[in-house]
Amino acid sequence: MTSFDVDLFVIGGGSGGVRAARIAAGYGAKVMLAEEYRVGGTCVIRGCVPKKLMVYASRFAEEFHEAEGFGWSVGETRFDWATLIRNKDREIDRLEGIYRTNLDKAGVEIVDSRAVIEDAHTVHVLKTGARIRARYILVAVGAHPTLEPVIPGGELGITSNEVFHLEAQPKRVLVVGGGYIAVEFAGVFAGLGSEVTLLHRGDMLLRGFDDDVRAALGEAYAQRGVNLALGRTLTSLEKTPGGIAATLSDGSVLTVDQVLVATGRRPNTKGLGLEKAGITLDEVGAIPVDAYSQTLIPSIYAVGDVTNRANLTPIAIREGHAFADTVFGGKPTMVDHDLIPTAVFSTPEIGVIGCGEAAARAIYGEIDVYKTAFRPMKATLSGGKDRVFMKLIVDKATDKVVGVHIMGHDAGEMIQLAGIAVTMGATKADFDRTVAVHPTAAEELVTMRTPVVVKKPQAVG
Ligand SMILES: Cc1cc2nc3c(=O)[nH]c(=O)nc-3n(C[C@H](O)[C@H](O)[C@H](O)COP(=O)(O)OP(=O)(O)OC[C@H]3O[C@@H](n4cnc5c(N)ncnc54)[C@H](O)[C@@H]3O)c2cc1C
Repeated sequence: MTSFDVDLFVIGGGSGGVRAARIAAGYGAKVMLAEEYRVGGTCVIRGCVPKKLMVYASRFAEEFHEAEGFGWSVGETRFDWATLIRNKDREIDRLEGIYRTNLDKAGVEIVDSRAVIEDAHTVHVLKTGARIRARYILVAVGAHPTLEPVIPGGELGITSNEVFHLEAQPKRVLVVGGGYIAVEFAGVFAGLGSEVTLLHRGDMLLRGFDDDVRAALGEAYAQRGVNLALGRTLTSLEKTPGGIAATLSDGSVLTVDQVLVATGRRPNTKGLGLEKAGITLDEVGAIPVDAYSQTLIPSIYAVGDVTNRANLTPIAIREGHAFADTVFGGKPTMVDHDLIPTAVFSTPEIGVIGCGEAAARAIYGEIDVYKTAFRPMKATLSGGKDRVFMKLIVDKATDKVVGVHIMGHDAGEMIQLAGIAVTMGATKADFDRTVAVHPTAAEELVTMRTPVVVKKPQAVG
């Protein structure tokens, strides 16, 4: 009979790996987890958490300004980048400590080392040289940002990994990319008073989101002074005495202090030894898995960003949990990747669940669309320029709300709750019979009565 050192070896101590390790250990499995950088992974160390702290920091200037309309004299204000970074780092250290303690308490053995796969049941721990035989291996190694596409001088750019550790606030920033990470950092730097150019090869930001939301965000960013360079790409970077000279595809040159490249992320599968176990990666380097996160090799599973399904923390956590339930808890569990509420922490914020209009039209055919755009009550005295935009998409055949799109203050908080209703299969009639909470912005979600007349279908963008 084959003997194993552990029941489960988890490679990667991020959102997915940590959850899987803890739950599996809770079922009585002997679990070892290897982490090559810091426990907590991308989300805690250099993703969601530090980013959201920076988003909070970036919103105060506007609040100070708006307070005047309510009678406050705020006086002179000053922002200190070093204080923000120091305090943010202290919080990240605290969270990493909690993650480690929780793993310890669950009985998971943490190995602070890179680990690679040698075969279907063997993991090589590089720091100690140990070769651990595991009944199951869970690959939860996440992904990394890239400086792509490769251009002359491209190495002068930084990624989201470095942006959290800049020694000084760049006064002039070029952010490259149109996805949520690019949009969020453009918002952060603009809010902190930097001069920001957001360069994106497409004509609208946030591909995959509803076109109305994309347009509304573009307008809001332009109105906030973000210089939107759309329909163009970066062709080269060069260090000059005045900063970094960035040449764009239209021949224009921009001199900035930092270039943040947020054009994409790639799974951390290079050199991981998967091929030795017989696993073939897909075209972007992700690990193909089935609905239970199992690879073609029965003893090897993969969860989170390394599988490139829906690259979000709550999804990695769910996949990790479902894996542990399936393999160690005797409860085969699949994760539903269909209805995922999500937020973009731009300023103004975006919250979305379900389909955009074009996608809904393609899936359901006949749909009703409800839209509203309004000035939030606070803006009447504060003079704030942001508007709130909301859109509901309803499948005509079933009356089900199949898409909710919100742009405005606290949209992330709103969509979490609207997400419960949509996940439960709420109909437009359910929304209509829900009593409004007054006066709020969210009440508009239950008071939109008349569908918009759509003249012609939108193109999927
Ligand atoms: C800037 C930014 C902002 C984000 N904001 C949000 C957000 O607001 N909301 C949201 O839901 N998601 C957000 N995400 C995405 C989220 O962080 C990821 O989806 C999530 O962290 C994926 O979890 P994971 O377990 O798959 O991988 P990770 O959390 O990346 O963990 C993988 C771990 O494996 C380790 N590792 C890699 N290779 C090895 C090896 N060979 N041996 C040992 N260890 C290894 C890595 O060091 C890492 O710690 C953001 C991401 C970024 C970059």
